[in-house]
Amino acid sequence: MIRDLLIDKKLFENIREKVLKEGDEELIKRNSLENAVLKKLRKKRSLKKYKKMGIRKSDLKEIIELADIVSLELFGGPSDYQIINEHPEWCSHCGTCCRESSPIFIHKDEINAILTFKSDLKDDIVKNRDYEEHFMFKKDLPCRFHDFEANRCKIYDVRPQVCRTYPLVLVGDDDKSGYVIDLRHKCDYSIHLVLEKSIILFDEAIRRLET
Ligand code: SF4
Ligand code: SF4
Repeated sequence: MIRDLLIDKKLFENIREKVLKEGDEELIKRNSLENAVLKKLRKKRSLKKYKKMGIRKSDLKEIIELADIVSLELFGGPSDYQIINEHPEWCSHCGTCCRESSPIFIHKDEINAILTFKSDLKDDIVKNRDYEEHFMFKKDLPCRFHDFEANRCKIYDVRPQVCRTYPLVLVGDDDKSGYVIDLRHKCDYSIHLVLEKSIILFDEAIRRLET
């Protein structure tokens, strides 16, 4: 159980419990993402190499679960947002986020820029009931600005902030707000993010095991 070298068991269980409250659908998405990461992690950190140290597949799975659930900030490392910002190449430009994300939040300060670009959209932008400062497109799934043929955004230069930080989505609008990973296994960016965090955490656990 090399995860115990990184985080107090009870603290991890508490965090995990909160995540499990997200419901079955979220759990299925989580499992799919973690399985996709496991395949890649086994290529980067082969079990053969660590067999003598007693490392098993279950250890890798536990590390991935930790990487998926917590930010590296908990260990003095970078936030998910910082990691993603440094790796734009992780996005495969598949367009899934534009076709399957809903709602697409628009901050009140972003509306004018969008309307300057396409003024006839005025009636298509409505207030978001959950977040005071935000509006949303009346109709999405897919987003009406997604160009299917070119697989690109028709309003790229003025796209809302939420599209710029994807696959991280900001939840909450108070001090406790933070980013969560959306779409998960369907997004290469999400898989790379959790893989990168898993590698960092795995290497740190091995370092602690050896000292
Ligand atoms: S952020 Fe993810 S879902 Fe969106 S285009 Fe990039 S890889 Fe695809
Ligand atoms: S505004 Fe552009 S980037 Fe944002 S979801 Fe729509 S098509 Fe995608």
